[in-house]
Amino acid sequence: MVDADLENWIRQLPKVELHVHLEGSIRPQTLTELAAKNGVDLPGGVTAIYQFSDFSGFLDAYMRCAACLCTQGDFERVTYEFLLDQAALGIHYCEVFLSSMQHLRRDFDFDCLMQGIQAGYRQARSETGIRMGVIFDHGRQFGAQEGLRVLERAIGTRKFGVIGLSIGGDEVNFPPELFEEMFLRARQAGLRVTAHAGEVRGPESVWGAIHKLGVRRIGHGIHAIQDPDLMAYLQQQRIYLDICPTSNVRTGAVPSLNEHPVRRLFDAGVPLTISSDDPALFQTNLVQEYLLLAQHFGFDRRELQQLSLNGVRASFLPEQERAELQARFQQALTALVV
Ligand SMILES: [Zn+2]
Repeated sequence: MVDADLENWIRQLPKVELHVHLEGSIRPQTLTELAAKNGVDLPGGVTAIYQFSDFSGFLDAYMRCAACLCTQGDFERVTYEFLLDQAALGIHYCEVFLSSMQHLRRDFDFDCLMQGIQAGYRQARSETGIRMGVIFDHGRQFGAQEGLRVLERAIGTRKFGVIGLSIGGDEVNFPPELFEEMFLRARQAGLRVTAHAGEVRGPESVWGAIHKLGVRRIGHGIHAIQDPDLMAYLQQQRIYLDICPTSNVRTGAVPSLNEHPVRRLFDAGVPLTISSDDPALFQTNLVQEYLLLAQHFGFDRRELQQLSLNGVRASFLPEQERAELQARFQQALTALVV
């Protein structure tokens, strides 16, 4: 049973979200309208495409969502609506992944695309105060060569709010080592970097992301639980794992919620942040993920506050802005009765 008082408290808790994909966050009604407008087939309608039961079903649904974004105005609309929904959950800042290859392979003009995103962001920010940074997430299965094209687009659109680069997608067949040059160049260009790793592969994938790609923040990383040395290293080096519990169950990365290692990782001192990954596709949101931690994994309110502050510390905001946001959060947390 949902504890309404707790849910309300979590909504008031100031939060950031660092791992959330724009294409997986489109409101169902908007997706229906965009699909009709742009002639994209959603077999059985939106509700049916959310009913996937494994990772390939999830990828199919995800690609259909991405295909519904066809004009600058589409990107503007979904960004605006996404940020309004985020702000309503008590989220002050988010870092949003864009699946760049889904749009690059259709020859989408990235200036046009990012101008749409920026227009939606400006409007939402003026109405709610929410802040956002965009990270280009490169599907590993498209390879390193295409990755360099994505990097070029990321550098070219920094003026429209791109702050970082990431890899996601097929972790099994495309290890981090393949993307060493892409990440080196990204870091040299001043982009911030992160990588999905240890989501479906074991600890070696997380080690590779750290040592070969130079990341200080990992998407998921849940399989670090298999390697005590890695957990100790993450703790000592303050390398954060962005944990998305519902996502891991829905994609089959963990067999069930009971087997999710979030509590054990937290208790071992591994620095964690909490995110929803693809809230529309997984039919969740950040408030629901915090609620899940409280109700299923026994996190108390002080621990949830700690996770909220971790989000600020792990963010890619410039140093000064991060310090200011942290001070604001700390003030708000003091005022929030535990
Ligand atoms: Zn993700």
